[in-house]
Amino acid sequence: MRKPLMAGNWKMYKNAGETTAFFEKFLPLVAGSAHADVVIGAPFVNLPAAVAATAGSKVEIGAQNLFWAKEGAYTGEISGPMLVGVGCKWVIIGHSERRQYFGETEETVLKRTLAALEYGLKPIVCVGERLEERESGSTEAVLKAQFDGGIAPLSDAQFGLITIAYEPVWAIGTGKTATPEMAADAHRYLRSLVAGKYGAEAAAKTRILYGGSVKPDNVKGLMAQPEIDGALVGGASLDAVGFASIVNF
Ligand code: PEP
Repeated sequence: MRKPLMAGNWKMYKNAGETTAFFEKFLPLVAGSAHADVVIGAPFVNLPAAVAATAGSKVEIGAQNLFWAKEGAYTGEISGPMLVGVGCKWVIIGHSERRQYFGETEETVLKRTLAALEYGLKPIVCVGERLEERESGSTEAVLKAQFDGGIAPLSDAQFGLITIAYEPVWAIGTGKTATPEMAADAHRYLRSLVAGKYGAEAAAKTRILYGGSVKPDNVKGLMAQPEIDGALVGGASLDAVGFASIVNF
């Protein structure tokens, strides 16, 4: 059985004080939530505050991106060893906002994923189609291209350490959620790609999260789908009580 992973993506929200205040409220609400792993993806500068606030708790902290070099003359970038050095355990890679605004491609998704794995971070690799791609019937072709370019070059051992997040771009931050059935169809397709490349056992083990306007009132229906192994939650992860109720779906 795949243990659910409920991950928050705070995007570019909250300062250090708000980070600490969030966890003061949130941790008691999820202290007994043994059914799921819980991760919060915080902005780089708030990672130390998030790690300090969650020390000794079940919640692990992730970054929202990393650069692939270990160190060097890359002004403005943050490396895997820097993230590990502040106690970060996870990293979100290839989020659609990074694809849309920062030129992320399959090639850079792969480079970041390889770097994350090299330095011991657990990658959550995001894939998903845009609205026009869904409407033109090319959802599966888009997912296949993203899988083939950004994920499939990983070795079996490397693949075993990643989590995939299916995030239809048209559902992110829009309030439009994929129906549980639509999400499950996409997850089934992604799992078939995993099975084709890495085998049935790997496919059965891989966690595929759904992301896109997950809220306290729709998480139960999504999580009722056996294909959906957790959620990557943006907006609704900013509120301690709301995100706790998502974790405790
Ligand atoms: C996200 O940022 O990954 C996301 C799914 O955002 P939202 O939940 O706000 O749609």
